[in-house]
Amino acid sequence: MSGVNDIRSTFLDYFKKNGHEIVPSSPLVPRNDPTLMFTNAGMVQFKNVFTGLEKRPYSTATSSQKCVRAGGKHNDLDNVGYTARHLTFFEMLGNFSFGDYFKENAIELAWKLVTEGFDLPKNRLLVTVYSEDEEAATLWKKIAGFSDDKIIRIPTSDNFWQMGDTGPCGPCSEIFIDQGENVWGGPPGSPEEDGDRFLEFWNLVFMQFEQTAPGERSPLPRPSIDTGMGLERMAAVLQGVQSVFDTDLFRTLIGTIEDTMGVKAEGSASHRVIADHLRSSAFLIADGVLPSNEGRGYVLRRIMRRAMRHAQLLGAKEPLVYKLLPTLVQQMGRAYPELVRAEALISETLKLEENRFRKTLERGLSLLSDATTDLSKGDMLDGETAFKLYDTYGFPLDLTQDALRAREIGVDISGFTDAMQRQKAEARSHWAGSGEKATETVWFELREKHGATEFLGYDTETAEGVVQ
Ligand code: ATP
Ligand code: MG
Ligand code: MG
Ligand code: MG
Repeated sequence: MSGVNDIRSTFLDYFKKNGHEIVPSSPLVPRNDPTLMFTNAGMVQFKNVFTGLEKRPYSTATSSQKCVRAGGKHNDLDNVGYTARHLTFFEMLGNFSFGDYFKENAIELAWKLVTEGFDLPKNRLLVTVYSEDEEAATLWKKIAGFSDDKIIRIPTSDNFWQMGDTGPCGPCSEIFIDQGENVWGGPPGSPEEDGDRFLEFWNLVFMQFEQTAPGERSPLPRPSIDTGMGLERMAAVLQGVQSVFDTDLFRTLIGTIEDTMGVKAEGSASHRVIADHLRSSAFLIADGVLPSNEGRGYVLRRIMRRAMRHAQLLGAKEPLVYKLLPTLVQQMGRAYPELVRAEALISETLKLEENRFRKTLERGLSLLSDATTDLSKGDMLDGETAFKLYDTYGFPLDLTQDALRAREIGVDISGFTDAMQRQKAEARSHWAGSGEKATETVWFELREKHGATEFLGYDTETAEGVVQ
């Protein structure tokens, strides 16, 4: 009962039995929210239902939502391969109440599922609550019988959720499991929190206020519930392993990498990064994103190229990532038929990108190695070189950073941005001399305005010089 498919159906069936409508996952590209790069939580497709803008024929729902956290506010790209719990693509199981039940029921439902449905031992569980939410602490005591030391009060925004600067908001309560004394890491809120001992697997959000203006909150007349449980994290817990990469699905993917490359994983970040990035790339392509030099397509390209550098590290002499796709489709195609439908497109896209990038990856890596031979831990790679790698060799900045991470060498980001600005200014001056100034100025202004939007940052600038 502990494979991902079983966990998913246990969750959905449980909430269905408790009166919730099972709603399918929405696509990774949010349909009606241009401010959001990718769907990053189960509640995204219900945003307008929470605010009352949209009506649905049900007041409670449950879903298993495809999520990508590789850009924007939630960006876990740099965590992947280095923590035991972060993926760029994952499934978020959730239950939602749109002005129907509230805090007490939400905690009761969660507690019952965790301790009866999934049969987790009570003595290994603990929760966080927002420090001002005494109500939640009292409910946890009553429903779960927790003593005070199992209820950790957190005063930071980590435990207070907001949809935006205005709109619904409220405290949250996260459920953690203690994975044992021999596993490194401290309780939530402690300096060692980022260890693996205490694993957060479920977050319950109690939407009970409306932020009307900065510093002004009023109670919502009909408070709502939004929860998110990481499927892969729950699989790790139920399978008795401490890392999402040790669950059955990832073991199978990593096994395929080992077989294809003839290199054992033995704790290497590369295998984990490739397996994760394969999933996010495949699901993004299935949902219509294609690699490009800006916006969502550039995030996909960054993910794909990072995976390719890791394949290169394992000694890949030819495209690797597309070869792993059949294993993924076999594992996840039943739950996500779009993966099967798009298999040929995904495969071609991966292969094409790998073939394109391979030409410059090797040369760029040797430039990088020359430029850093004299550098050591704590040093910085100069911005000019990072920009050259970006502009001429197609290295996204984060790929360069990732490549230097093991040696603890940083990148001079402001130098990188300066170099990019200089190149833009130069391009602009060339254009200015071409006699069609008016149109070109407008074009540049438009690009300045729309090219780099707030949530994409500098790394989505059109990289005109990227070798294709
Ligand atoms: P963390 O503190 O571990 O980064 P979070 O608090 O950012 O997690 P939430 O935004 O609360 O995560 O998302 C709800 C649930 O989704 C989490 O409790 C976790 O189980 C799961 N989850 C979140 N981010 C990831 C990720 N990058 N990979 C896998 N599962 C995730
Ligand atoms: Mg997080
Ligand atoms: Mg958290
Ligand atoms: Mg959380």
